[in-house]
Amino acid sequence: MLRTLGITFKNLFRKPFTVMYPKKEREMPKRMRSPLFALTKDKDGIINCIACRLCQNICPSKIITVVPAKEKNEKGKLYPEKFELLVEACLACEYCVQVCPTDAIVMIRVFGWATDKKEDLILTKEKMLEVYDNYKDLISESTASFLRKMQTPPRKKEAEK
Ligand code: SF4
Ligand code: SF4
Repeated sequence: MLRTLGITFKNLFRKPFTVMYPKKEREMPKRMRSPLFALTKDKDGIINCIACRLCQNICPSKIITVVPAKEKNEKGKLYPEKFELLVEACLACEYCVQVCPTDAIVMIRVFGWATDKKEDLILTKEKMLEVYDNYKDLISESTASFLRKMQTPPRKKEAEK
């Protein structure tokens, strides 16, 4: 009893951990999974997605729809005519990001983009490209290549050197 009273007493003089959001924001952990998705572009501004549909097939909630365009783009690659993701049923499992061969789909690690409009939860290709334009500085640690590197066991990393 004395020990627990001691803990209570000690906490009386501890500084509070409360962060006064939205005036102040906590730093988000690097591995946070926030279901705000972006579709990335290459250095020439061309969408990186090659419409392979791997993300569509792996998604456990079946909320991704990719429709490839009939023709190829100026770089001779396939691209999606339609790309749609219904965020309302997203589990934030990140499978779609991890499986992407071209680092085209990424989850932006930001907090506080809640909405009360149902239509905002339908992410179209255009919206996801816009998210990329707004947050491109934040994506380097969100791509499939980065995640694969991070998950490589240390022994394998040694062998690759
Ligand atoms: S986002 Fe990636 S996995 Fe999904 S269709 Fe495009 S290239 Fe394929
Ligand atoms: S994070 Fe998971 S549930 Fe959400 S879209 Fe990607 S694969 Fe589907």
